[in-house]
Amino acid sequence: GKIPPAAASKPPPTLLGPSTLPTPSKSLNDRVAIVRGDITKLRVSAIVNAANNSLRGGGGVDGAIHRAAGPGLLAECRTLNGCPTGSAKITRAYNLPCDRVIHAVGPIYSTHDPEKSERELTSAYTTSLKLAADNGCKTVAFSALSTGVYGYPSRAAAPAALSAVRKFMKGEDGKNLDKVVIVTFEKKDVDAYNEALPLFFPPE
Ligand code: ADP
Repeated sequence: GKIPPAAASKPPPTLLGPSTLPTPSKSLNDRVAIVRGDITKLRVSAIVNAANNSLRGGGGVDGAIHRAAGPGLLAECRTLNGCPTGSAKITRAYNLPCDRVIHAVGPIYSTHDPEKSERELTSAYTTSLKLAADNGCKTVAFSALSTGVYGYPSRAAAPAALSAVRKFMKGEDGKNLDKVVIVTFEKKDVDAYNEALPLFFPPE
């Protein structure tokens, strides 16, 4: 669903700072990247939180996002009645430098049904991108959904994530997104996502 535009108090969203405002590019490859760093520091239109079904906060990146955003975020999340696995919900960003937070729920990785996990992970990415596009977000930074406590192997999560991003960016709704980055934190994720990137976004 759509929510009203953010208060005019925040600076315009840019990926890394005012000097690097991304210029809309026709090339798909220029519009997707892996970034190593702390997602709570990014001045983008929307960051995507690796949330859980309750949307009441948790450990890992979820905890870091709630700490940095302040109590307003949890108060708004409490009004949302949770979120099913493979889906996402959008809120305001409170004290964070971004404009919106998209709370996506990836799967707890199942070794018994890895295909179901992949469908749910793909759907968490796609739902988040649709929410971003529907709310006019131009720059989106994803957490490496499910690759922490939820146990999704990074080497399997990376191609699933990048494939979903590619498919969305090539579609009609993807045309309005200037930049999508996946923010990796730990070395295992940095390596896995950087290895997969050229397979899905090969140098032109
Ligand atoms: P999940 O429960 O979906 O597995 P986690 O928060 O445990 O979510 O892990 C998701 C990913 O977020 C992991 O790769 C973890 O290293 C990473 N992470 C943790 N803190 C941060 C942060 N401040 N910025 C970006 N990524 C983070």
